Amino acid sequence: MLRKKTGGLARRTARTGLISDISNKSVDRRAFLRGSGLAIGGLAAISATGGTVTQASAAGAVKGAVETVKSVCTHCSVGCTVIAEVSNGVWIGQEPGWDSPFNLGAHCAKGAAVREHAHGERRLKYPMKKEGGEWKRISWEQAIDEVGDKMLASRDAHGPDSVYWLGSAKHNNEQAYLFRKFAAYWGTNNVDHQARICHSTTVAGVANTWGYGAMTNSYNDIHNSRAIFVIGGNPAEAHPVSLLHLLKAKEQNNAPVIVCDPRFTRTAAHADEYVRFRPGTDVALVWGILWHIFENGWEDKEFIRTRVWGMDQIKEEVAKWTPEEVERVTGAPGSQLERVARTMANNRPGTVIWCMGGTQHTNGNNNTRAYCVLQLALGNMGTSGGGTNIFRGHDNVQGATDLGVLSHTLPGYYGLSAGAWAHWARVWGEDLDWLKAQFHSEGSGEDAKNLMNSTGIPVSRWIDGVLEDPENIDQPDNVKVMVLWGHAPNSQTRMTEMKTAMEKLDTLVVVDPFPTVSAVLHDRTDGVYLLPAATQFETRGSVTASNRSLQWRDKIMEPLFEAKTDHEIIGLFANKFGFADRLFRNIEMEDENTPVVESVTREFNRGMWTVGYTGQSPERMKLHMANQHTFDRTTLQAIGGPADGDYYGMPWPCWGTADMKHPGTPNLYDMSKPVSKGGLTFRARFGVERDGDNLLAEGVYSAGSEIQDGYPEFTYQMLKDLGWHTDLTNEERAFIAKAAGVEGFADYTKEVGEAGMSPFPSDFDDQVAKVNWKTDLSGGIQRVAIAHECAPFGNAKARAVVWTFPDPVPLHREPLYTPRYDLVADYPTYEDKKFYRLPTLYKSIQAKDFSGEYPIILTSGRLVEYEGGGDETRSNPWLAELQQDMFVEINPRDANNLGVRDGAQVWVEGPEGGKVKVMAMLTERVAPGVAFMPFHFGGHFQGEDQRSKYPEGADPYVLGESTNTAQTYGYDSVTQMQETKSTLCKIVAA
Ligand code: SF4
Repeated sequence: MLRKKTGGLARRTARTGLISDISNKSVDRRAFLRGSGLAIGGLAAISATGGTVTQASAAGAVKGAVETVKSVCTHCSVGCTVIAEVSNGVWIGQEPGWDSPFNLGAHCAKGAAVREHAHGERRLKYPMKKEGGEWKRISWEQAIDEVGDKMLASRDAHGPDSVYWLGSAKHNNEQAYLFRKFAAYWGTNNVDHQARICHSTTVAGVANTWGYGAMTNSYNDIHNSRAIFVIGGNPAEAHPVSLLHLLKAKEQNNAPVIVCDPRFTRTAAHADEYVRFRPGTDVALVWGILWHIFENGWEDKEFIRTRVWGMDQIKEEVAKWTPEEVERVTGAPGSQLERVARTMANNRPGTVIWCMGGTQHTNGNNNTRAYCVLQLALGNMGTSGGGTNIFRGHDNVQGATDLGVLSHTLPGYYGLSAGAWAHWARVWGEDLDWLKAQFHSEGSGEDAKNLMNSTGIPVSRWIDGVLEDPENIDQPDNVKVMVLWGHAPNSQTRMTEMKTAMEKLDTLVVVDPFPTVSAVLHDRTDGVYLLPAATQFETRGSVTASNRSLQWRDKIMEPLFEAKTDHEIIGLFANKFGFADRLFRNIEMEDENTPVVESVTREFNRGMWTVGYTGQSPERMKLHMANQHTFDRTTLQAIGGPADGDYYGMPWPCWGTADMKHPGTPNLYDMSKPVSKGGLTFRARFGVERDGDNLLAEGVYSAGSEIQDGYPEFTYQMLKDLGWHTDLTNEERAFIAKAAGVEGFADYTKEVGEAGMSPFPSDFDDQVAKVNWKTDLSGGIQRVAIAHECAPFGNAKARAVVWTFPDPVPLHREPLYTPRYDLVADYPTYEDKKFYRLPTLYKSIQAKDFSGEYPIILTSGRLVEYEGGGDETRSNPWLAELQQDMFVEINPRDANNLGVRDGAQVWVEGPEGGKVKVMAMLTERVAPGVAFMPFHFGGHFQGEDQRSKYPEGADPYVLGESTNTAQTYGYDSVTQMQETKSTLCKIVAA
């Protein structure tokens, strides 16, 4: 039962009876056990005095000092603190962090089992290569040498884009940043990571609506919500500890919980209103809700007038979505959606939460924008308790996205334009011409093309990079060498074609703590390398939780076996390729291969101005971790103590340099606070005018703003127009001069300024006029704008209509493999097109009706016990025990019609021929005509157990078929997100 917490603070446990006798000291489970006389075995040996180092005092299993080390769970984006107990370098026990405002002493099964993840006996223990069909142990020297030589040979023969660097949401921020920089130095944009296939449609949709592509508020801020609307998300399993925060709002505020999902999930079990709808019809559903809002005048008209552009065009589209049409398309009754609309209208502010159920569609960007429009219409944005709380998946998928492990941008969402490269070359101190020469270029004069400015192949399509006719690819040749670095291939669709692609490659390289399905999916006998990477518990560094807060992990233990940290492996390759001196030019080194982690943080601090990753120095992050107890559990703000006023983890944007001490931004676009104290406006990134309309905010502004209206983003010229440019110091001006390419000021020193000299010529202002808040490496433009309480990025309206996207107004479009072929004429998919270097099919697939032969919708999702492709968690004995069988959920009506009984083996086959043999689970969680499979399994392929193909002792405890073997083609029209939530299948008894 939930208890009301005194003063909003969670207690470690109810201090009644026995526990209250244990003084006022911090009490944890071990102290409780000792005090209660319940302690057994080695537990009794461990003191719990609250210090960081305690002495074992009794005979027991543990001898010597027990050190506690603070880290962060690596299994989801909630960011729960893990307290590790370490003795003589051995991780002997763990506790959840009670002081963390994110988890308040809670862990889910995965978090509670992370020690086994690090100490796992099924890990890769040393580098290996496959030779003559056998796995052979090799040294690191041999591995780097051989792999490096093959890459260099491929580069010579086929160009730098023939090597694909697939990175990871498991990198910490420093590793993610280095990985992206490393790919740039190698000379390719064929670099990407899991974000492409989990929330790329969120990032694109949300950023193009109001500025930034991230969760706007936080898990904790949900405490303030008056209504909670979850669509396409199952946080009870995917983000279990987040339920603490949702249920607090439900209990404390009587906040109604509405869950819209094709499947009655464990989250739906907590709902006041469960809306079942057909997979792939999110836009129709949301427009169906908005229809009632507009019909009844429940929209927030003043908010729309002052802060939103394009809502009139949305209204025109929504008018078509009458209750009858919505029910025809989605299956959800109009009367229910009227009730949902009324509930949302009567309980403001409400929050909207979504996950991959909404994002993984061919029109996923339409879905995410429709969710945003719902919140804009209700006036729920920029307010505590409102917002779009988009729960990211992996622990650092937010950070790896921010740091640009993506094929379409450099770190900080700067893109790939010439200006973006110039910016990062300045941060890196690199010769831009040298960088250019690393990339493939062709043509001359006006026809000159350098692939450094061209989006690379996204991870969702790497198999097409290998298999497609090279004539059809916008790069010189196919991908020949594939590096899967912390990536589970079974999290991707079309696995039968992936097998072919893996077999066609010249070389396949896996860098991971576990062998992953990449080690066994193919039938290769040679040319596969497995390099053991360390987990995040064997290094230190920062990690960004879903709410944009940065936390610091300390190192718990040295890398096990022969594992190496990602940043050391990057260093080894950089040395092999001969550019380590350049790559680490401004970074302190522990040795020739290993950068000092804090020094890497400081380098990205110097360049990440766009999203405000500039104020979170290692020192500030460590201070927050050490003083977690001083932060409020709801506002996340420190109350007194050494971080007084800061928001926990300095959620980005944390403007300016660390010296500026910006507290971070807890809720994006919240104008009730001054910008200097975490307030914000909507970002002005789409111009100032559209079709004669003003795109800037109308007469509204953040608290204390000296500009009391909308305004564009800040440039030097704008500062000058306002007369604020004189606030810049001479040192800042020198940096600005450098950004503008003005010669002669780069050597400006403080001494010159203090001597009263003015090294700036009379036309200085004209020369630097265009330098803006994103490219000024001094942070001066940001500092001055914020000193006048203005947002560096301007004050604009959100745009409900994204005129740069294929569907400016979000439209419903039937999935490529639709069970409702009768709707295709009204709601067709897109024309085939080429983008991200590859031809991409839409209409040519939808041209055929597959619904007769494949009558059941196939969708997929997460289980609480496992994560991602599942290799780590299925190799963890504590978790593997909990869920040992891969299964398919089938409605009893379908099962009975098919002659399938609960627990029986069935074949699930997709329309592209991929099929899996799994156990049938009969359940009404899914509707008739819908089947669900979890996506964490691997190691079986189309009925065959592949256990014998793993290196000895490195096979996960639990193997199973991958749902993605049966999953099909389909990619979002903007981001190339894969479609995994709405395809078709047939099911037959095995
Ligand atoms: Fe917390 Fe997520 Fe780890 Fe579970 S998996 S303990 S919810 S961070």
